[in-house]
Amino acid sequence: MALRGASEITWRAAQGRPGLAERIGDRVFVDGSPAASPARVMGPVVVGSRTYDGALLISALPEGGLEARVQIGLEAYVEGVVASETSIWSATSAELEAQAIAARTYAVATLQQRSAGGAPAQLADGVMDQAFGGRHIPGSSSRAREAAERLTRAIRATQGVILLRGDRLEEARYHAACGGHTSAFSDIFHKEVRERRAQGPTGVPCPPCSRRAAQESVQGSPDAQRPLGWIEELNPTTLARVGRAFGLPGAPRRIGPARTDAGGRWIDVALESETGQVRRVPFEELRRVAGYSVLRSGALLATVPRPTDPLLGGGWRVQGRGRGHGVGLCQEGARDLGRAGWSSGAILAHYYPGATLSRPDPADGPRVARAADQ
Ligand SMILES: [Zn+2]
Repeated sequence: MALRGASEITWRAAQGRPGLAERIGDRVFVDGSPAASPARVMGPVVVGSRTYDGALLISALPEGGLEARVQIGLEAYVEGVVASETSIWSATSAELEAQAIAARTYAVATLQQRSAGGAPAQLADGVMDQAFGGRHIPGSSSRAREAAERLTRAIRATQGVILLRGDRLEEARYHAACGGHTSAFSDIFHKEVRERRAQGPTGVPCPPCSRRAAQESVQGSPDAQRPLGWIEELNPTTLARVGRAFGLPGAPRRIGPARTDAGGRWIDVALESETGQVRRVPFEELRRVAGYSVLRSGALLATVPRPTDPLLGGGWRVQGRGRGHGVGLCQEGARDLGRAGWSSGAILAHYYPGATLSRPDPADGPRVARAADQ
């Protein structure tokens, strides 16, 4: 949860009863009385504008302040993630189901990895894990209620279903929009490959993004709120930060691709210093340093200056397409494929080639089937 380091936390519990946790010394006090750590408030509980169906756990942080976490069942968590990660108003059941299975797989796999040391594992509610805004609260219109029912049905229809690659959980990454071709897990998640020998999906063409990109280049963005194309500029201050982050004496003099993938995405970037020293770094690292909202993806179409020309102390202007790391399910693509009548199994088989779906079956244990068969 975002509540980390606060000096007090307020909530509303059952029947709207207000609650207050404060930190006094090293202890947590709930409604004026000393509480165990973590203090436990039974759900459902409303914190700010969010409603959580799990218990609220409040603990004192060693560095000061309080931290609130929510202990919640997997399916309620997945429903909250899907509500945050998709535009549920316009989503088809297939898109919601595909997103639910990817989100569930990611959650189960990540919790397994983080609990390897025996400590209780948790997931963050932001971009580093998955967006999670608690229970979806629909508006009062019939359309809002229908969307909420469709969401709940998608969670029930896929209850417990996860993606496997061989006998391991799939690296079920997903992203907002690939721009025309997804990236290979092994090209983007180097640390995971190195440390866990993780294997994930290869890159695949994404016809819906290619179609949207072609439309945008002819008539401008057909979906003005979420265009695939973007243009950003890294100013000299950001470039100096980039240079320092990668051990150059100052801002790079030249920036160009050191390696691109089948879809043209920059996988590694070469940063050349004033003195001709060249640092080759993963483009995702450059994105992290420059800002994910600035370098929205590695699918770059053009830069000014061009990779062969020097920056001459000015900015670096970048034209790109898509949003996110590009691995696994493309949310923009899944939305269009769902509308075109694809099933959730077919969508997942496309973006996670070689993965299988495992459905829990109380009668005879997990059953493994090819994603495309679902
Ligand atoms: Zn796509």
